[in-house]
Amino acid sequence: DERMPDESAGGTETGTTGTGTGTETGTETGTGTGIDESTIFETPLLELDVDVPGTVYGKAEWFNLPEAPHGGGSIKSRIAKGMLDGAEERGELEADVTIIEPTSGNTGSEIARLATARGYDVEIVMPDNASGGKIDAVRDAGAEIHFVDADLGYDAVIERCEELIAENPDDYYRPNQYENPDNPGTHERTTAREILEQTDGEVTHFVAGAGTGGTVTGTGRGLHDRGDDVTVVGFEPKEALHAIDGLKFLRTGDHYHPETYDESVLDRKEYVSTGDAYDRARDLRDRYQDAAVDVHDPGQHDPETVEHHLRVDGQFVVGTSSGAGIQAVHQLAGDGALDEDSVTVVMLCDRGDKYADIPLWEEYL
Ligand code: PMP
Repeated sequence: DERMPDESAGGTETGTTGTGTGTETGTETGTGTGIDESTIFETPLLELDVDVPGTVYGKAEWFNLPEAPHGGGSIKSRIAKGMLDGAEERGELEADVTIIEPTSGNTGSEIARLATARGYDVEIVMPDNASGGKIDAVRDAGAEIHFVDADLGYDAVIERCEELIAENPDDYYRPNQYENPDNPGTHERTTAREILEQTDGEVTHFVAGAGTGGTVTGTGRGLHDRGDDVTVVGFEPKEALHAIDGLKFLRTGDHYHPETYDESVLDRKEYVSTGDAYDRARDLRDRYQDAAVDVHDPGQHDPETVEHHLRVDGQFVVGTSSGAGIQAVHQLAGDGALDEDSVTVVMLCDRGDKYADIPLWEEYL
């Protein structure tokens, strides 16, 4: 009894007709309160008991900016920092520039938080069905939001951003997570290195879903560079109309394919259904209802901080793309790809509480 919400945040329909439908909210002045960039990177590795052969570690990405409101940070805190640092180092950012980015959520909130705290004006172009937690995070940072009718599809979000830039080209800088080499580059330098260190080089399988593809491409490159025998597994939504936040349906060639996604890095690809993703996330919550989550390596955080941010209202709730990752691991196991010596690392890209208002959430919880 699965209800597919219309064009979930992150889903990709290809309709691209109307543009200029964005409606602006009021402009506020950003304060970037509570942003401590030093908490980005070196996220904890959790040992998860999910009934597949070998060891499974989840890399808990909401420990990037764990204190940030609306669910903490996410995997996108990494690239927000990486892309802003890169642009500043290259001298591409004038002090009075406005940073603009089209995004269905996490990249927008993380760019908004970091860039406003660094003193820039920020404008985020989003589909109007993005989750309330992500919209609030952008708003609270003081960024301006341009909403685009989600029925027009995600390509219309990108087009609206391009239109705004074309109107005032000198005012804007677009980090462009879909093309910026600092997106996969940040993962190559940080995520891959952290995983190798945290597993003592023993990782055998790396599993990550593709939105921009930056995570799986960059981390996969870093793991392969080490010369270790690591199987890099990328996964994508099975259905065009899906509800796995952060992932994109990329299987047809008739819409934008991100340059940051280099599929030649992948050793294997899985397709995950929304229903399975939600079931796995719910199962994870149930498994850890009464059991402690085993922290294999707290990263840069002290164990008490990790305990504090692992649960929401006593529950271990991960975002939907994390549930999809666990499902991808099960699909590997079902194919006989894992054995008792396997050490699988799957990205847990964000915590679930920022999705409290999305369809299916009641079933999910
Ligand atoms: N999961 C979530 C929750 C995300 O926000 C994103 C980024 N859109 C992804 C997975 C996919 O990451 P990437 O863009 O690096 O492919």
